[in-house]
Amino acid sequence: MQHRKIAFIGAGNMANAIIAGLVSHGYPASMITVCSPTPIRRDKIAQQYGVISSSDNLAAATQAEVIVLAVKPQMMKEVCEPLQTAVDFSQKLVLTIAAGIPTQRYHEYLAQPLRLIRIMPNTPSLVGKGVSGLFADSNINAEDKQFAEQLMLSVGSTIWCEKEHEINNIIAVTGSSPAYFFLFMESMQQEAEKLGYTPEQARALVLNAAEGAIELAKSQNDTPFATLREQVTSKGGTTAMALAQFYDHNLPQIVAKAMQSAIDRAEEME
Ligand code: NAD
Repeated sequence: MQHRKIAFIGAGNMANAIIAGLVSHGYPASMITVCSPTPIRRDKIAQQYGVISSSDNLAAATQAEVIVLAVKPQMMKEVCEPLQTAVDFSQKLVLTIAAGIPTQRYHEYLAQPLRLIRIMPNTPSLVGKGVSGLFADSNINAEDKQFAEQLMLSVGSTIWCEKEHEINNIIAVTGSSPAYFFLFMESMQQEAEKLGYTPEQARALVLNAAEGAIELAKSQNDTPFATLREQVTSKGGTTAMALAQFYDHNLPQIVAKAMQSAIDRAEEME
């Protein structure tokens, strides 16, 4: 991977995950600065990965070739506007991981010609199993695209969006979906506890079953999920009875509605 000086503006979970991935893939820690007004989290990241810690967004952004905007969406305007007149963006690549802020908004906040890429990661990036959707704004060149892709490959897999609105689809499919799976596992754990297992046993049983199902599906990548489901389901058997409950309550439709609601919310936030 090509090495450029990177400044992370924001020292939260996502910045931490990406920095961890980069450093573990051999990216030079001395080329990464992590910036936030409060020292606790940025200093922890700096100590853990050997990167530079700073409280000065302007200084960090000025010396960087790549600026990663990693603050909460509601902080973005406040973070960007001071950079508008103080930083020359002509030689910089800007990456933003904030949900729900369209590229147009950054052009307004920063009021300069920009090379900008939107990235939608998810929390499994923390363990190197993330999925990131990327969207390249109009001024992006091939090297910038390759750089952003390599950056996110260090914490998992990537998919490019041709159109900006597709980023909202990625939110529904991968950005929010860890929570869907956690809800399912949470419900199963609760029921297992009612059956008499300790919380630790119930958690382990559910986790191992989920992991087993995922590994099985991955080992048979050409087999559709529907076929894998049918293979566990004997006619009139126990699994068939359990699945009948999901179908009676129209689980596929619930999932469809949930995913559409995530997309609608992302569109509303824009
Ligand atoms: P977080 O709350 O953990 O971190 C935000 C960081 O921003 C904190 O370190 C805070 O100190 C810092 N900050 C606040 N004000 C600042 C300022 N003025 N200058 C510099 N730093 C400042 O948030 P997170 O979960 O890491 O999310 C960061 C971004 O990633 C958000 O925009 C979010 O939409 C996006 N995102 C998060 C997830 C997720 O699942 N967590 C998934 C996809 C995208």
